[in-house]
Amino acid sequence: MKAPAMSDTNPNQSREWNYHPDLPLNNPSIFQWPPRAGFLARWVINNWLTLSERVMMVILAVALWLFFYPSLEAAESFAFGWVLQVWLINLIMVIVVAGGLHWYFYMRQGQGETLKFDRRALAKGNRLWNFSDQVHDNMFWSLTSGVAQLTAFQVVTMWLMANGIAPTITPVDHPIWFVLSLILLPIWSAFHFYWVHRLLHVPFLYKRVHSLHHRNVNIGPWSGFSMHPAEHFLYLSSLCIHWIVPSDPILVFFHVIYLGPGAAMTHAGYEDLLIKDKRRLALGTFYHQLHHRYYECNYGNQEMPWDRWFGTFHDGSNEATERTRAFKKRMYSQ
Ligand SMILES: [Zn+2]
Ligand SMILES: [Zn+2]
Repeated sequence: MKAPAMSDTNPNQSREWNYHPDLPLNNPSIFQWPPRAGFLARWVINNWLTLSERVMMVILAVALWLFFYPSLEAAESFAFGWVLQVWLINLIMVIVVAGGLHWYFYMRQGQGETLKFDRRALAKGNRLWNFSDQVHDNMFWSLTSGVAQLTAFQVVTMWLMANGIAPTITPVDHPIWFVLSLILLPIWSAFHFYWVHRLLHVPFLYKRVHSLHHRNVNIGPWSGFSMHPAEHFLYLSSLCIHWIVPSDPILVFFHVIYLGPGAAMTHAGYEDLLIKDKRRLALGTFYHQLHHRYYECNYGNQEMPWDRWFGTFHDGSNEATERTRAFKKRMYSQ
């Protein structure tokens, strides 16, 4: 008789993971053929008609636009004051989101180990990290190069819009395009991220640039935006879409939040935030967690089809792990 595996006692636990979703991962991509109306409707409801991560980001973008970020008029010419204002707001935003999640999950232990993917604690006392501390190292890269370059892309975009070089619309004149843009921006960003990320996994760039992010095999909220400056540059170039596609400042700010503090949410190390034992907010995905554990798989995000189309999808099964290891070996033996 076969010895019972650990997973026989708890189907969402294994030797490798403290928690994993039901495996193999299913296909939540909206790019399915033939399209399934019910599935698409659920996707819209889950992402846009509930208080989801994306809806909260739009609310934050509007609030920042109304009360905190400088106006486009102020951005007509570069001046120290308004640029500093944008930088300071972005700095505070990243500290509040990444710091808040870190405090709740890893300091206050608000959810204990429930829905936490990796069993290990974040690293301390290891010389692999600056300051011998994973969290301090991650904070350093996020708050220096990360916030500075996020701000740089944002202020250049605002200046281009203020001067009529980048095309603009307003939600009042073009409500349908505005709403459609909100829905399409995460899809664009996922497409851009997939290709930038594949480029970063070319061994030459991986060793010199991307390995900095990948020291985080076990990830926490501060890991998300912790990157080498060259990676920040490539990753944030997603914002250049606003230089050619007509946008409103709210769309730019939404995109900024999505790329900056949003990265802290996707790297939380926990699948969901529980409130009174109910899953209230989707955070990290097992999909990207697998990328951090096995490297040469799941370069994109799970609702997009790219990994499936290009044969780099890891569904969490042992077979996929074997395939990924073989693929990695081939990559590095060339
Ligand atoms: Zn990552
Ligand atoms: Zn990677």
